[in-house]
Amino acid sequence: MKEILANLRTYFETGTTFDIEWRRSQLRAILEMLEKETDSLCKALQEDLGKSAEEAWLTEIGFVQHEARFVLKNVAKWARARRVSTPMFLMPAKSQIQPQPRGLALIIAPWNYPIQLAVSPLIASVAAGNVTVIKPSELAPACAKWFSETIPRYLDPKAVAVIEAGPEKTSELLKEPFDFIFFTGSTKTAHYITRAAAEHLTPTVLELGGKSPCIVTNCDHIQTAARRIVFAKFLNAGQTCVAPDYILVEEKLKDALADALKAAIVEQFGPENAPTNFVHIIHKGHYERLCGMLNKGEKLLFGGKCDPETLRIAPTLIEADMAHPAMQEEIFGPILPILTLTEPDAFGQAMKLIAAHPTPLAAYLFSDSNADVKRAKRLISGGFAHNDALMHLTNVHMAFGGVGQSGHGGSHGHAGFEAFSHMRSELLQSQIDIPLRYPPFTESAMKWLKRFMH
Ligand code: NAD
Repeated sequence: MKEILANLRTYFETGTTFDIEWRRSQLRAILEMLEKETDSLCKALQEDLGKSAEEAWLTEIGFVQHEARFVLKNVAKWARARRVSTPMFLMPAKSQIQPQPRGLALIIAPWNYPIQLAVSPLIASVAAGNVTVIKPSELAPACAKWFSETIPRYLDPKAVAVIEAGPEKTSELLKEPFDFIFFTGSTKTAHYITRAAAEHLTPTVLELGGKSPCIVTNCDHIQTAARRIVFAKFLNAGQTCVAPDYILVEEKLKDALADALKAAIVEQFGPENAPTNFVHIIHKGHYERLCGMLNKGEKLLFGGKCDPETLRIAPTLIEADMAHPAMQEEIFGPILPILTLTEPDAFGQAMKLIAAHPTPLAAYLFSDSNADVKRAKRLISGGFAHNDALMHLTNVHMAFGGVGQSGHGGSHGHAGFEAFSHMRSELLQSQIDIPLRYPPFTESAMKWLKRFMH
């Protein structure tokens, strides 16, 4: 490991990665890799998660291709120094912000979107001119192997390395000094990562999870709302960081919403308890944790079938309350609790219930009331979608990230580029020397200084 890191650093010091053409060549290489390796990628995703080729393209391959093209188009502009104003007292200097690569970057990826969540930060890292280590998740072993075998065939092997490691070896890796760590994973692991990063004062971006609420109040478009909620929740069998974790629905809409959700599940994934092309749960431990949330006093509305042989849990709707086990932690699976808002001020009640959990990665509101939309501005969350769920993260013009317990820092598009860059402030002074700035400060000099600095 030490040798790999030392070689990457030596290469960084040559300055090769500062060159915009080098960065563009790496982005083109990523695009070529995704294009030529679609089949091997789909095979690895099928092996690890039982993901269909269509879902693999939509959520992993096509998703990152879109981002890579966008970054390729803009990287030269983003990497240029940006002129900013200079106050009078610094005249005749000029001022600018110059993005610089951070140096040696470490990307630690999770298993749930094993390609997207490693390649999207890689795009940002090479665009910013860094040398990079990718540490894929050991829980998606076919994808981890795919990275080790494929990355060196397409990207500059002196600048990008893949290190396969489980928690123990990753802890060893984290003892080495990095210039930047981009971590995607659970809030629990983020504690270890930040503690290790603190030893070297290494800056981090943390892309974490949490319980993303979905409020349904004053909603006249229940069928559309249900279709969007079902898509966002059951994609990847609910193993999505921004999946709606639970629904808060006002009492008068509850039955209509439950019926519409059931119909939408059948429409999108097939009959109750017999979904087709449905992703399986990543491993036995996670499967058992999810099954352990069922039969705990909730009312089963739909689904509920768990198959230990295939590790599949059918799309499941339950009616529950705040005390239910599914409401105690991030679900991260295909179980969707529906909680009923019974107070006259349903939206106010939703706000209070959401406040019982740490700040979520996303919040969703399905409502046709402007008052609800206005009140939702006071709800703190990493991202927000009105009348939709999950889709906000597909817009490369917006930063994606959490707040509080759901993480910090941004990714995607320009936000990703900035995260992997150091934005250096540069003052470009002229040789014209104004004596006013030097001591001794006479009365008249002070008068002028105060006037200039006002
Ligand atoms: P995880 O925290 O268990 O693992 C993430 C990565 O950290 C893996 O590469 C793993 O090998 C490594 N790791 C695990 N334990 C470690 C330790 N003790 N020391 C060092 N490294 C360690 O997370 P996961 O189960 O892979 O992913 C699920 C979580 O990730 C969920 O909470 C989900 O919400 C979150 N997530 C967030 C985003 C986002 O963009 N915000 C995206 C996907 C997943």
